[in-house]
Amino acid sequence: MNTDSYQQGDTSPLFTGEIFEKIEKPTNDWLEQWPSQCNILRPYQADLLKRLMASLRTHRRVLGQAPTGAGKSMLIAALVAAARMGDLRVLILATRTRLVKQLHERLNDFQLPHGIMAASLPGLASWSKPIQIASVDTLYRRCLADKRHPTPLADLVVFDEAHLALGASRRAVLDAYPLAYHVGFTATPAKTSGVGLDAQFDHMELGPSAAELIALKALVPIRIFAKPVVSKAELQAVGKDSKTGDYVTGEISKIMLRPKLVGNVVENWLRIANGKRTIVFACDKKHGAELQQEFSRVGVSCEQLTDGDAEEVREEVIARLDAGITHVLVNCFLLSYGIDIPSVECIVLARPTRSVVLMLQAIGRGMRPAPDKSSMILIDHGRVIDNLGLPTYEREWSLKGGNVNKQAEERYSSRKVTVEKPRTCPDCSRMWVLSEEGSRCPECGYQPIIRAAGVRVTDAELGEIGAQLPSVDVLQPFFREACDWYATRWPDRWQQKEKSGRWWAWMQTREKFKRPDDERMPSLFWNVAPLKASAETSGWLTAKIKEFKRKMARR
Ligand SMILES: [Zn+2]
Repeated sequence: MNTDSYQQGDTSPLFTGEIFEKIEKPTNDWLEQWPSQCNILRPYQADLLKRLMASLRTHRRVLGQAPTGAGKSMLIAALVAAARMGDLRVLILATRTRLVKQLHERLNDFQLPHGIMAASLPGLASWSKPIQIASVDTLYRRCLADKRHPTPLADLVVFDEAHLALGASRRAVLDAYPLAYHVGFTATPAKTSGVGLDAQFDHMELGPSAAELIALKALVPIRIFAKPVVSKAELQAVGKDSKTGDYVTGEISKIMLRPKLVGNVVENWLRIANGKRTIVFACDKKHGAELQQEFSRVGVSCEQLTDGDAEEVREEVIARLDAGITHVLVNCFLLSYGIDIPSVECIVLARPTRSVVLMLQAIGRGMRPAPDKSSMILIDHGRVIDNLGLPTYEREWSLKGGNVNKQAEERYSSRKVTVEKPRTCPDCSRMWVLSEEGSRCPECGYQPIIRAAGVRVTDAELGEIGAQLPSVDVLQPFFREACDWYATRWPDRWQQKEKSGRWWAWMQTREKFKRPDDERMPSLFWNVAPLKASAETSGWLTAKIKEFKRKMARR
C-alpha cells in the first residue's frame, strides 16, 4: 500500500477495497449555531456566511460568490468552524497546492485541527482528523481512479474555486458525496462560456461587489489603460470556439504575434508600468515566448510559465516574481486563478477574450492591497474592457438561464447602452468614468473638447469611447483669446515661438480660473486656433501685464 498519506501513528484503518462507508444524511442542527471564531469576520463576510448557512436549510448544494479579496479562505474556515460545532466531518477541496497551503494556514488561525491529502504535501497528512483538505486531483487519482485509498468521510464538502468544479473528474469527486452538504466558493460563478453552474449547485448567494471592496480598501482601485493593438473589424473576423464561445486561440494568436504588436506590448509596458511586478496574459505558448523574448531583449527580467511546467517550477517562478527578481511573468490564463501575489501591481491583457470569467479572474490577480501599493495598473491591448465593460461593473450572475458574456455584449459593447461608458484619454490612453473621477483625465489632466451640454462627441475625438460631455467649459475660449491677444501684440514672437506663446496663454488661463499651478496644458490646446479677444479678455490681460511691470519696477 502507498504510504505517502498514511503517516506513522495515524489511526487510519487499512483500505479493504470498499470505497464508501455508509454515511447518514447529516441533520440541519449545526446551522443554528454561530461559533465565536466567526466574530472576527468583517460585516460583509458574516452577512454572506449567515445567508449561505440559512440557504443550506433548504438546499444541499449552494454556491457563494465573492470577488477576489473578499476573504474566501476566512469564509471557508468560519463555515468549517460552524460545521465542527455540529460535529460534522468536513472535506475541503482545492485545485492547487498553493490553495491547499493557504487553507491549511487559515484553519490553523482558526485552531481547527485537520489533515491534508495532496501529493505535494505528504508531511501534512493526518487521516484521522475530522477535517481534511484535499487537492481535488490527488483525491480523484488515489481514491476514485486508482482506488488505492478510501475516500475521506464527509458530511460537508467545500469546493474552493467552484467555477472549476465542472470537469469530469471533479464532478466525480463531488458526486461521491451524494448525502453531504456541498458549498462552493468562487469569484466568478460561471463557466468560461458565461453560463451558470447549475450542473453542480442548486442555489447561489452573492457577496459584496468589487466596487464595495475597493471602497472598503480590501482591494485597490484599478487604473486602466486601453491600448488596443487589433481593430474591431479584425476581432470580429476571428472565429468563435464552439465550446467556450471565446476567440479561437490559433486565430487570435496569429494576429497578436505580428512583430509590431509584440513590440507594442513591451513599449507600452515600459511607458506605463516600467518596474512594476507584472503578469502578462498571452494568447498561447508561442505568443508568450515571443513576448518574453521581447521583454528580455530590452533588458526586463521576464519569465514564462506554461501548463507544461511542474508545480514546483511554477512555485519557484512565482516566488521570484514576488521577490522582485523577475519583473514580468508571461502566461496564458494559467495564472488566472489560484495565485495570490499581492505585490503584483500590473496586469497586461495581451490576449483578447470574450469571457467575463477570464477577464475578471485575470484582473483579480492584481487587485490585492500590499504595502506601498495604492492602485493597480491594467493595460488592455485586446479591447477587452471595451467589449466586456469595466471590471467593477455589477454582473448579473445566475445559476441557470443567464449568460454573463452575452449580458456584457448586449450592455457594454453596443453604443446604445444606458450605463455610463468610460472615456479613453487620447493623450495617455487612461480610461476613466466621468461621474467618479471628473471631466479631466485623472492621469494627465487632459480636458476633452469643450462644448455645450448634450452634444455627443464623436469617436474620433475621444479615442474609442463616445461620451456625453458636461456643461460648457469656459477654459478653452479664454485660452484661444489669450493666444490671439499674444499673437496680435507680439506677432514676431508668435511666428517664431508659437509654443511658448501658447504656454504663456495657458498660464494666464490657469490663473484666471484659479487652477492648480501644476495643471498640465490639455494637449488639444497646442492646436486650437486663436479666437479674437473680447474687450473683457484684453482688459484682463492688459491689467495683468501692467501689474507685472509695476512689480518688476519695484524690485
Ligand atoms: Zn490622460
